[in-house]
Amino acid sequence: MIEENFDIGGRGIMSGGSIQLGGGHSLQKKYGTVDSADMIFADWTRHDHPASRYSDRDIVRKFADENAATFEFLLAHGVQFTGREQAGGGASTNAGRTYQTVEWHIPSQVIAPNRGRNGAGLVRRLEESARKSGVEILLKHSMTSIIRENPKSGRVLGITVRSNGNTINVQARKGVYVGTGGNSGNVNFRRTFDPRLTEEYQQACAPYARQSGDAELMSMAIGASLWATAQQTSESGAAITKTVHIGCQWGYGSLVFETDSPIFHLARATGLTVANWQDVIMVNQVGKRFWSETDGSYKFIAAAMAYNGDPDKLNGGGPIWAIFDSDAVARERWNPKPPNVDPLYFASGATLKELAANINNPYQKRPMPGTVLQETVERYNSFVTSGTDTDFKKPKPMYKIEKPPFYAAWATPILHD
Ligand SMILES: Cc1cc2nc3c(=O)[nH]c(=O)nc-3n(C[C@H](O)[C@H](O)[C@H](O)COP(=O)(O)OP(=O)(O)OC[C@H]3O[C@@H](n4cnc5c(N)ncnc54)[C@H](O)[C@@H]3O)c2cc1C
Repeated sequence: MIEENFDIGGRGIMSGGSIQLGGGHSLQKKYGTVDSADMIFADWTRHDHPASRYSDRDIVRKFADENAATFEFLLAHGVQFTGREQAGGGASTNAGRTYQTVEWHIPSQVIAPNRGRNGAGLVRRLEESARKSGVEILLKHSMTSIIRENPKSGRVLGITVRSNGNTINVQARKGVYVGTGGNSGNVNFRRTFDPRLTEEYQQACAPYARQSGDAELMSMAIGASLWATAQQTSESGAAITKTVHIGCQWGYGSLVFETDSPIFHLARATGLTVANWQDVIMVNQVGKRFWSETDGSYKFIAAAMAYNGDPDKLNGGGPIWAIFDSDAVARERWNPKPPNVDPLYFASGATLKELAANINNPYQKRPMPGTVLQETVERYNSFVTSGTDTDFKKPKPMYKIEKPPFYAAWATPILHD
């Protein structure tokens, strides 16, 4: 097994460890849950739901047929589950097929400990079992190409790998399985699907995994085709999400890097978790509000990614900043200092103009105009007085932004898939 990172797991180890597998496996039988491969196939090929409408039905058929066997494989290789399935399904299925793994017991080997990130309970168990079975795991080895008999035909023979400045060819005995975690970290590749996804949009699994798109690109280089990519644009899942932990570079909703994370030196800040979106307003890189802060739907995302008037940046919406005052800090019980915030993704100022001038972020290509930010806040404060947001219909705006110091925290949407 080849892994470019210093440790295994990729996105999987950062995940919630919620495993959606059914088809009539032993845990379902134990709890009397009725399920079958055909029921899974029916759920994931529904025409009346955007998450299933575009599915490749050949792949879904195979997936459905392998569900139960895959679950038994996980059990046989030591993965433990907390009990019966969770209620609700997600996406195009309402069937309860989601099982929660038991978290790995060694906190220092959990990349994002303490916050229900049970993906390590999946990955570490499989690692343990693989090593016992004699699987060799080569860390810090990066696949650079796939070798085929002829450039675009014949059997796949192996892969080329770079490690420590050396190039190695690894021969396959039976075949090669490539999985490099998707392509959301590859700006040019992801813009194939959605041209708005310029460089300011971070990914949920960073800074641990790259989502390089390498598997797709290297497979296409030897003649494979790529399809079934509607997830990128169907707005039916969590492809692009609202940031929940603000003031840090990676604030994906269910993922928090606390100081005991083995990669905290890379993540650099925990972020300030927003409990009530009434406590902030959101502005774009030119200091203007763009949508109701209490919304988190794809309408909010689309507005955040809309053209903001910068003639040098036609695609992508640029950085989004949550703006708030010291009263909001008190209400939310935040401590707006490192390691909770990252100075590159957070700013403060005694006045709103000073705040705008203090924003110093690699993705903020032009200074935020302080007068615009001040006008935005004054207008918002007038909505609090009147009780009506005539610009974006935020339900009954509650709190004025008026007590210094003022703060700006990175709140740009973040990519999940
Ligand atoms: C925060 C978060 C929560 C999630 N929660 C869930 C959940 O609860 N349930 C669920 O089903 N899914 C969840 N997911 C999605 C799930 O984690 C991914 O779909 C899954 O891990 C993808 O598996 P993969 O093997 O393709 O990629 P990964 O798990 O990312 O593994 C790919 C590996 O390839 C390595 N790699 C990349 N390029 C190269 C290269 N050129 N050479 C060598 N190695 C390379 C990477 O370093 C990585 O370790 C979540 C994802 C995130 C980010």
